[in-house]
Amino acid sequence: MESCEDAAESFVEASAVFGLGGGQAMDMAKYVHWKRKNPLVLIPTVLSADAAYTKAIAVRVDGKVTYVGSALADHLLIDFDVLRAGPPELNKAGAGDILSIFTALADWEEAHKRLGEFHDSQIAKAAGELLAGLLAGARELATLSDEGLRLLSESFLGEVRLGEMVGNSRPEEGSEHHLAYCIESITHRPFIHGQLVELCTLIAARLQGQDATPILRFLNQVEASCHPDTVGLSRDELRTALLRVGQYVRSDPSLLPGHFHFRPPLAEREVEALLAWVYEVTE
Ligand SMILES: [Zn+2]
Repeated sequence: MESCEDAAESFVEASAVFGLGGGQAMDMAKYVHWKRKNPLVLIPTVLSADAAYTKAIAVRVDGKVTYVGSALADHLLIDFDVLRAGPPELNKAGAGDILSIFTALADWEEAHKRLGEFHDSQIAKAAGELLAGLLAGARELATLSDEGLRLLSESFLGEVRLGEMVGNSRPEEGSEHHLAYCIESITHRPFIHGQLVELCTLIAARLQGQDATPILRFLNQVEASCHPDTVGLSRDELRTALLRVGQYVRSDPSLLPGHFHFRPPLAEREVEALLAWVYEVTE
């Protein structure tokens, strides 16, 4: 957070704020634009997360993701050749922020049933179709063809539009993101967001009792790994996060209620069984 403020203050008079880079660069540029009110131009060089497309500005305060304000790019420039020049695994990781629809929709439905939260079945259906569209485009994303990158970019746009209609990120953010944020708060390290979300989507799906096969098949076809070693997460760290996530979600009232809010904390033997499953299926 301090580094965002420093950056915002260090700007001289300028006609625009340009954000060039990955997800964290996008959030930094959104933050400076929000503070300085200059027009915002975002040029993502990788699509490892949906940060260039979303309104919310995510900054980390003491390792904890906090949404401080909102900013939408005045111009969003997507160049497929620029994206392809980056590491392929980073662009493939972007799928994580669409795959999260798989578990976010289940959370939304459960929150509706348990708490009477507003639920729009048309919007949920549209989000499901976005996910299905991405799953069907695995082959294009595997080669990072123009079609594959366009599909990913347009999926982000579609997801943001649906979120705007609901007024929050319900259609695409739920317990999988909660677990990812809990992991970040424990490790105090940056991760490739989409990759971490992919891993957490698998875990949340398993806990929700959903069959994660479509997600696993997609990751396989795209040749994208979200094994904890690839994500950069040790077994101990993942174990700690799974034991603490129930407590974590309750400590942050800004999180929309999801799977971990509705269940007692995971027991140690449940966590061990989950870890064994995760290491096996992501191998
Ligand atoms: Zn995300």
